Amino acid sequence: MSSTKDLRISTEEIAEARRALRGVAWRTPLLPASRDEEHVFLKLECLQRTGSFKIRGAWNRMSRVDSPGLRRGFVTTSAGNHGQAVAWCARKLGARCVVHVPDNAVQRKVDSILSMGAEVVKKPHEEIMESMTDDRLQKLGMTYIHPFGDRQVMAGQGTVGLEVLEDMPDVRSVVVPVGGGGLINGIAFALKGRKPTISIYGVQAEGAAPLPKSLASGRAEDMGHPRTIADGIAATRVFDYMLPLFRENVDGVLTVSDEEIRYSMRHLASECHVVAEPAGAASLAAVRKYRERLQGPVVAVVSGGNCDPSLLSDAVLKSAP
Ligand SMILES: *Cc1c(COP(=O)(O)O)cnc(C)c1O
Repeated sequence: MSSTKDLRISTEEIAEARRALRGVAWRTPLLPASRDEEHVFLKLECLQRTGSFKIRGAWNRMSRVDSPGLRRGFVTTSAGNHGQAVAWCARKLGARCVVHVPDNAVQRKVDSILSMGAEVVKKPHEEIMESMTDDRLQKLGMTYIHPFGDRQVMAGQGTVGLEVLEDMPDVRSVVVPVGGGGLINGIAFALKGRKPTISIYGVQAEGAAPLPKSLASGRAEDMGHPRTIADGIAATRVFDYMLPLFRENVDGVLTVSDEEIRYSMRHLASECHVVAEPAGAASLAAVRKYRERLQGPVVAVVSGGNCDPSLLSDAVLKSAP
């Protein structure tokens, strides 16, 4: 079923998402990364409502559900940020919401989901991955909100790209953390239609990098268990229906180590006064590491800021330059 999904979204669908998001998702700032890196800018989705860009896709999808659908409620699968966004949107819509999370999910994110009135069900990681591919959750009668493989979700994430282009029409490269690929493909569909010369780079953590391998082999690869502090992009596999989109949209995939991510978190906190979670800091880590490969102006999407305080203090106090 999933391999035939058509997720090639149009610029019109993204413009429509933009209208749907008005008054719900905030327009986040685009600011220089530091005084000495004049061509590097940060798109600060860590300041977005609920702490990550995920509310863009969730609201664009959920706000279109009719009233019988709202009475049945919503169900989703997420390690955290998508779950928080779906829970927030469900509360705003006055609907019931059940979030399935892997049993190793970051406690702060789980607490936040609970505080928004959603129900949390803990499941082993493998089971979560399976329920994203089969339609077991849809059969519960509630509307399943996929974290990335959905046209309206992806169109919502694409609105990040529209804002970047408006704020910086001469942008040449955009660097985006990649989990399932909703954010990077949404941004690419938003930007490449309007500005074909732009380059879009994905970022994965070294310990969870199925994308470079899949692009090289031409097959959707599964890497087993993820090993990284960047829980927001801890992908174990590429979904088969996403692979054609990555091939079409992504000009390169950059990988960074956990140490490089920690250092980037530290730089963001001390130089930019920005709190990023590891997945969000990965983009700037990649820009610093691969700077000679990237044409400026470069925008690093700081995709989220929901970070355990202990992890942040660890990064700030202990990461070596
Ligand atoms: C979900 C998420 C990502 C990855 O987005 P995908 O659409 O799954 O590729 C990156 N960073 C943060 C903070 C996230 O929450």
